[in-house]
Amino acid sequence: MEAKKRVALMGTVIELQVAHPKADSLLQETVRRLEDYEHRFSANKKDSMLGQVNQAAGKHPVQVDEDLFDLIALAKEVSLSTHLAFNLAIGPLVQLWRIGFEDAHVPDPKDIQCQIQKVDPKAVLLREEEHQVYLKKEGMAIDLGAIAKGYFADQIIAFWKGQGAMYGLINLGGNVRVMGDSPKSEDGSWQIGIQKPGQRRGELIGKVRVKDKSVVTSGIYERKLCVQGRTYHHIFDSKTGYPLTSDMTSLTVISGRSVNGENWTTALFHYSAKEAIFRLDKQEGLEGLAINQTGEIFFSKGLRGNE
Ligand code: ADP
Ligand code: MG
Repeated sequence: MEAKKRVALMGTVIELQVAHPKADSLLQETVRRLEDYEHRFSANKKDSMLGQVNQAAGKHPVQVDEDLFDLIALAKEVSLSTHLAFNLAIGPLVQLWRIGFEDAHVPDPKDIQCQIQKVDPKAVLLREEEHQVYLKKEGMAIDLGAIAKGYFADQIIAFWKGQGAMYGLINLGGNVRVMGDSPKSEDGSWQIGIQKPGQRRGELIGKVRVKDKSVVTSGIYERKLCVQGRTYHHIFDSKTGYPLTSDMTSLTVISGRSVNGENWTTALFHYSAKEAIFRLDKQEGLEGLAINQTGEIFFSKGLRGNE
């Protein structure tokens, strides 16, 4: 039996579709888990588990659940790799600009300079045995907004597989992961739509066909702030304190694990669309496409020829 559900959570609409003898109750439990994740992993809620880590910055370490610890550890590792834009300690800048919220604004350059001092991933101290996280400087804050949804997608798919689901799809607002054979195609592949930058949801530039994969898209067209003819989006440069600048408007990564695809979409966002795909081509097991401001589309090796 197949069941579908749409739930508003994590600032987006989450779509769920799963085939299982008890699909309805499986989806109920899935929603419960997603609510629990939101409650623990959100950087926007002071009383979340991550919120407690951030509140204790410069004061004391905080013990967290194993899953949150693992995701922070992974995010730290990615943040420390060079030449990549991803930084888990980006919280102070996200909170200063507030892009995507009603009170978004272009901050005073002095405030930006002040926040930059606090976005150092090396100052995120981890104690593996105790699952403790300590942010060394006061005012520091971890933000997992760039990868948490991918992590949740992976966890939910693993849960469904463990429960013996036949097939399924989870879409957390542009983060899609599928398992099993799609009931809609002969070869079992799933067609995942890629949104047209700047258009409303549902307008597509095309579709990719995948099986047992994740398709993650990061775009600068949904959450942005326009002031005096300039547009500011929501992925920040840790060095300048301003949004990253490149000609890219949208980057899609196809990967096995969704958390990995999320890492890469954010990590490559400071490169031009062409350069981002060039770099993606060097990574084994990853495919993707990037769109620049003039609407040009660049495809990774495995997608070329299927345009
Ligand atoms: P979306 O939320 O549109 O799916 P992304 O997956 O690209 O977007 O993640 C953007 C979010 O990541 C921002 O809203 C913010 O919470 C966080 N973020 C912003 N800049 C960075 C950065 N340089 N490194 C890591 N996370 C970032
Ligand atoms: Mg991301």
